[in-house]
Amino acid sequence: MKNHIVKIISTQIVTHDVMRFTVEKPEGYTYTPGQATQVSVNTLALKNEKKPFTFTSLNNQKHLEFIIKIYNSHNGVTKELGKLKAGDELIIHDVWGAIKYKGKGVFIAGGSGVTPFIAIFRQLYSENNIAKNKLIFTNKTESDIILKEEFNEMLGKSFINILTDENKDGYENSRIDMAFLKENITDFTQNFYICGPPEFVVDISEALKSLGAKTDAVVFEK
Ligand SMILES: Cc1cc2nc3c(=O)[nH]c(=O)nc-3n(C[C@H](O)[C@H](O)[C@H](O)COP(=O)(O)OP(=O)(O)OC[C@H]3O[C@@H](n4cnc5c(N)ncnc54)[C@H](O)[C@@H]3O)c2cc1C
Repeated sequence: MKNHIVKIISTQIVTHDVMRFTVEKPEGYTYTPGQATQVSVNTLALKNEKKPFTFTSLNNQKHLEFIIKIYNSHNGVTKELGKLKAGDELIIHDVWGAIKYKGKGVFIAGGSGVTPFIAIFRQLYSENNIAKNKLIFTNKTESDIILKEEFNEMLGKSFINILTDENKDGYENSRIDMAFLKENITDFTQNFYICGPPEFVVDISEALKSLGAKTDAVVFEK
């Protein structure tokens, strides 16, 4: 396995607990939108603490981008990532598959589980090929929605936002269960891509399977 030490170019706040990291891209480093790599902080104490994160940038961009939810409630890697600044170093490893675009379909994400879909949608949008794809994105509150404006711009009416802990105009307030899926989806032969916490992925995959769908799913451990 090849390790690459990369400098952070900039960090930016995305939501109250999500940050964007723009980092150097190693020479010749490429990946397919939806793929991830193990990342660690390049210090003596942390360099062996690797956690998976998804590339949100595209191959034709100069730098790599990660969008990362920071868990400040316990002493994990993301808490340390949240303290980093431009000039600090990360170690990135081999590229490996998470979700890969296989054709038009419905993308269902819970919270930071939307990250593999960011590069996929950005790629499709840049190729003018995003039509007929749909994103169903569920969050606790409006303030948790990652890249709301960008998804709106890319997907328009095909961006469906659900808030589970807040009732607000313009948002669905529902669980993604069998009834919701039947109401919002007519074609269960298309592709389904699911990404989120374990119980979210299992519940939705089961509901979709019983409606006749084939799914491609990734579990994000919280
Ligand atoms: C393929 C893949 C790609 C991913 N891409 C992204 C991405 O692009 N962006 C992103 O934000 N995330 C992504 N994730 C999720 C990300 O890897 C995890 O959020 C991250 O590893 C958490 O690291 P941590 O060390 O901060 O937390 P960990 O220490 O790994 O915390 C997670 C574990 O700690 C437990 N835990 C949680 N809170 C507490 C607490 N307060 N006290 C004690 N224990 C607790 C959880 O139950 C869990 O078992 C991805 C995951 C996968 C599998």
